[in-house]
Amino acid sequence: MALSFEEKTRIDLAATFRIIAHLGMHEAVANHFSAAVSPDGKDFLLNPKWKHFSRLRASDLLLLNADDAANAERDNVDATAWAIHGQIHQRLPEVRVVLHLHPVYTTSIACLAHPHIPPIDQNTARYFNRVAIDTLYGGMADSVEEGARLADLLAGKRRLLMGNHGVMVTGQTIGETFDDIWTLERACQILVTAWSTGRPLKVLSDDVAEKTAQDWEKISDFSRQHFEEMKHLMIEADPSLVD
Ligand SMILES: [Zn+2]
Repeated sequence: MALSFEEKTRIDLAATFRIIAHLGMHEAVANHFSAAVSPDGKDFLLNPKWKHFSRLRASDLLLLNADDAANAERDNVDATAWAIHGQIHQRLPEVRVVLHLHPVYTTSIACLAHPHIPPIDQNTARYFNRVAIDTLYGGMADSVEEGARLADLLAGKRRLLMGNHGVMVTGQTIGETFDDIWTLERACQILVTAWSTGRPLKVLSDDVAEKTAQDWEKISDFSRQHFEEMKHLMIEADPSLVD
């Protein structure tokens, strides 16, 4: 029997948690991913509080409604996840997938006095003029007001570099959004490594950087296939992922 959209989304999101843990981009039992499953974007799947990404199965994901304030009181819902993901799914129906991480290299760039990603290769150029930057970190984001502020910063943008904190990447499909947060981390790893040589960077011209970013935007099927390949590897390693 064909899977429903929610069932398929559960498997794809569970696979994303496994992939990110496999790649070492997770942090302890923190960080959250969510994916909308209703046309209005308000019904969404979220990982339960303080469970390791590498153990999550499709059926473990919580189905929440962004308008239901009682979710804030649930023991298995993390307060910061509810504040941020709940507000994004309530306010931005066009956002279908929200991934939030503190990966080492992207977070390192987010901790600079002036966070920016100069285009020095194909990966960094993907983000040329395409990342919103928040420099107003004020402690752990567990209030509806802070979630609303972050949601407003994401309106019309796909990626938010969260100063002194981490990164939020949004998208239309889980595959494209996964590939985006992975490539951003790789871009920042290349940038930090290049800076660590102490030698001057050769920054690409604006024209070449813009063309490269546009070229990336034409191959979203590459991003989805990257995800599908990684998902197969995760299911092969542990078929209970889909349960
Ligand atoms: Zn965080």
